[in-house]
Amino acid sequence: MTLTCVDCRASYPATLLYACEACGGLLEVTRPGTEPPGLDALVSPAVTLGECGTPLLPVRPGSLPTPARALWFKDETRNPSGSFKDRLVSAALTTALTFGSKGLVCASSGNAGASAAAYAARAGIPAVILVPERTPTEKMAQIAAYGALLVKVAGHYSNSYAMALAVARETGFVNVTTTFLNPYGTDALRLVGHEIYDQLGGQVPDWVFVPTGSGPLVKGVFQGFADRGGRMPRLVAVQAEGCAPIVKAFEERAGEVQAWGEPKTIASGISDPLIGYARDGTYTLRLVRESGGCAIAVSDDEIRRAMRVLAAGNGIFAEPTGASSLAAAQKMLARGDIGPDERIVCMVTGHGFKDFGIYRQMPVHEIRVEADASASVIIQALEGMGPPERVV
Ligand SMILES: [Zn+2]
Repeated sequence: MTLTCVDCRASYPATLLYACEACGGLLEVTRPGTEPPGLDALVSPAVTLGECGTPLLPVRPGSLPTPARALWFKDETRNPSGSFKDRLVSAALTTALTFGSKGLVCASSGNAGASAAAYAARAGIPAVILVPERTPTEKMAQIAAYGALLVKVAGHYSNSYAMALAVARETGFVNVTTTFLNPYGTDALRLVGHEIYDQLGGQVPDWVFVPTGSGPLVKGVFQGFADRGGRMPRLVAVQAEGCAPIVKAFEERAGEVQAWGEPKTIASGISDPLIGYARDGTYTLRLVRESGGCAIAVSDDEIRRAMRVLAAGNGIFAEPTGASSLAAAQKMLARGDIGPDERIVCMVTGHGFKDFGIYRQMPVHEIRVEADASASVIIQALEGMGPPERVV
């Protein structure tokens, strides 16, 4: 196993190295001679809580405002800490322990931090988790519950990112920040592509929608399908209108992604302005273009509607970021960019338990009754709800 720069192709022995020493580029894990490369180690990491192997659920017919006949949800909420980040963290930490790491550091918008704290607890090592101070309270409570040191950093995510670099440098702890920083973590995401491929019986989807901050999950899906050979799905990097650096570069046909200003969106998991590491976004944009896909931004209202379709229409409870993929797929279906017969997979990246605040503001069917109320009151309310076919 070696580390290779995705830009200048310089190669390094496998150590705790986070960037190319020659050009500062992103590093990826290469395992020459095995095919598919190194999957055994990824499937059975030493530090595990039972991550991966999440279900691929077909959409309930009739639940989509703009219909699609072949749409699936890759339900990553089912990972141990409630998001796809568990795939990354289990692999990154397993590798770091073999290098002698005594603790971990993670900058996070919440989900990676919760995951890192959980796996640190599992490994019995200390964890320092840095999050923006405006992170949803549920995510912060989860991080603290796992016993980590929770550091609330003023301002947006990129501030936490910079501080994590400093803490990792000073302590020697492994940095499992889930941008492209830790090549072992990013590498583990290729299993997502493999799982989708297998779950669809080898039939490659036409489109895969991926909620995207810096973009390691885009790479994971890309790499997984590339491992299997044959046709590639078109990858769609989904961002929020209030934080869309990759979409902006895609629409302007720019070669490089520029950092965003102040993010403003309910989708905390993809609220990443890429300040100081816009290069990550440029790499993700390159993969999106290579796949023939695109980058698209969705509004907070579109995300809220998708959350309702997922929860009330399909029984899947997702946080705003997790529903952004469906919001984008609906947008492209409605515009006719995608035909109703094309095969679509939406990555649902994080659990609804992680951000109750948004659901609390949504209309619900709810009544209060006295303890001695007649059942007819409830039946009346039930009849007032209308048919369940279009609950959303
Ligand atoms: Zn390089």
